[in-house]
Formats: sequence, C-alpha cells, structure tokens
Amino acid sequence: MRKTRISGAFAGIAIAALALTACNSGTPGAETPIPGETESGAASGTPWTVATDVTLEGSPTFDKIKSAGKVKVGVKEDQPGLGYLDPTTNTRSGFDVDIARWIAASLGYDEDKIEFTAIPSANREQAIVNGDIDYYVGTYSITDKRKEQISFAGPYFVTGQGLLVAADNDSITGKDSLTAEDVVCSATGSTSIQRISAETPAKTKEYDTYSTCVEDLKNGQVDAVTTDEAILIGYAAQDPDKLKVVGDVFSEERYGVGIAKGDTAFQEFINTMFTDGGEVWTAIFEKNLGASGVEATQPKVDAAD
Ligand code: GLU
Repeated sequence: MRKTRISGAFAGIAIAALALTACNSGTPGAETPIPGETESGAASGTPWTVATDVTLEGSPTFDKIKSAGKVKVGVKEDQPGLGYLDPTTNTRSGFDVDIARWIAASLGYDEDKIEFTAIPSANREQAIVNGDIDYYVGTYSITDKRKEQISFAGPYFVTGQGLLVAADNDSITGKDSLTAEDVVCSATGSTSIQRISAETPAKTKEYDTYSTCVEDLKNGQVDAVTTDEAILIGYAAQDPDKLKVVGDVFSEERYGVGIAKGDTAFQEFINTMFTDGGEVWTAIFEKNLGASGVEATQPKVDAAD
C-alpha cells in the first residue's frame, strides 16, 4: 500500500476524463420503427415508445413475460450514470437502466410492469440460468466464457478498463505504473479483476460492488479501483475533489444484454431494436452520459453474440 493524501488538487482531471466515455465505434441505426411499435412515447417524456400487440414467435423468455404480465430485469444500482438507485427518491436512472426500459417498452411493457433487481457481477449468469430474471442490462461485457452459460444481444456500448485513484495520487498514472506495493480493488466475477491480476504485479482486493471499492479508496484502504472507464467516470464526477481517472484504457469491453442461452428469437428482437433505433439510443446516451458534450456513436450489433 502506498501512502497517499486526499485533497482537491486534481479535481479538474476527473471531469476532463468524461470525454473518454465515448469510445464507441460503428454507425447509428437507420430511422425505422422498432419492432411492434405503434404508439408515440413523447407524451410520457421518454425517447422510446410502448408497443402494443407485440408477438414474438419462438421465444421462451417472451412467453414467460406474457404469462407473468411483467418483465423481470437485472441491473446495477450503485453505478451513477449507468445503473443507479437514488436512495432518497427511490428512482432508478442511468444509461443501462434506460436501455432496459426501452427493451421492456418494445415488448409492450411500461415502467409499472418492470420489476428491477440489483444483481452483482458475480451472480449474473446464475440469475439468468435460474430464470430469476428475463434479461440483464448492467455493464455486462460479452465474453466467450459467459456465452457458455448465457446468450447476449448487442453490443449496445463499448468502453475499456481504466483506473480510479485519489485526486492527489501522482504515482499511479496508468496500468503500467502499478507495482507490487499497490492494492487495487475491483468486483468479484468481473473481467476487470481478472485482467488486473493477470496483467499487473499489483495486489488485489475484491468486493461484490464497485461502490464498496470506491469507499475503500476514499478512506485510503486501497490505492486504486479498476473497472470499465464508463463506470469510473461516474464515480469521479460525483466526487471530483477526491477522485480522478488516470491513464489509457487497457481493454475493450463490449456491453451486451444478458439473456437465456439459445433464445435466438429474443436476441434477434433486441438486436433489431438496437439496429433500427439509432435515434432512441442517441437520446438515451445524451441524457445519461452525454454531459461531457462528446459525441458517441452506437456500436453495430453482432449477430454472432
Ligand atoms: N464490464 C465488466 C464485466 O462485465 C466490468 C463491469 C462489471 O463488473 O459489471 O465484467
């Protein structure tokens, strides 16, 4: 553990790092209606529309949703800008949460028919395999290992792994500056903890959630937190006097919607929604992650996922 003091010295850098959120590739989708779309969502103030009379042949997930009369969605709730539950107002916000709402609306289900459950990184595959949730939207990287148990729609966003440190830490400047003295915190079951262990000499500390890591960082218990930069930027923006994002990203994380393995009808439905719904995607991005003023482009969906 290196000695660091916490001060407001580098507050501006965390905000500047917001610009790095937008490392997407590909082209926006065409301006055609999403599947099953019949109503305007403008009245409710959302960029998506709640579809009516949706049919989706051959999807066990959709059959389950229909008979339950509600959609069960797995999310994160401690990642500002992506998946966040405001404890005072009890409202959920964030890019991922809005993507989840958009999918539900395209299936014909409005906010009052969505049951959100916060599920940590390590428990996502099992929750999908068990059928506890119908789909998961929460900084969920598409990986071959995860695809052994589940399927993914998407990708709908691309980011990369980064480092969050105390604002006055000038010894950790990026992945290659980490030494065996450093303690780096990340979430159990994430691609982030695996990569930092495999590719650096740093010691690691694991929790269920990144917010616990961030508390440890602010209390001087760890030297850095590592995960996707899109997540870290949200924490830094909440506490710019104490936290900053440093260095270049050192992975490519393609976010997908986790769904039951082999439900290709559901996968194609969501992929078509992403492909045709470029304008909705952009509106969701701008609302949740566009504060930096940087343009982001939606990645192309990959049928192979
Ligand atoms: N995107 C990475 C992953 O899916 C890190 C973020 C997370 O744990 O959700 O493992």
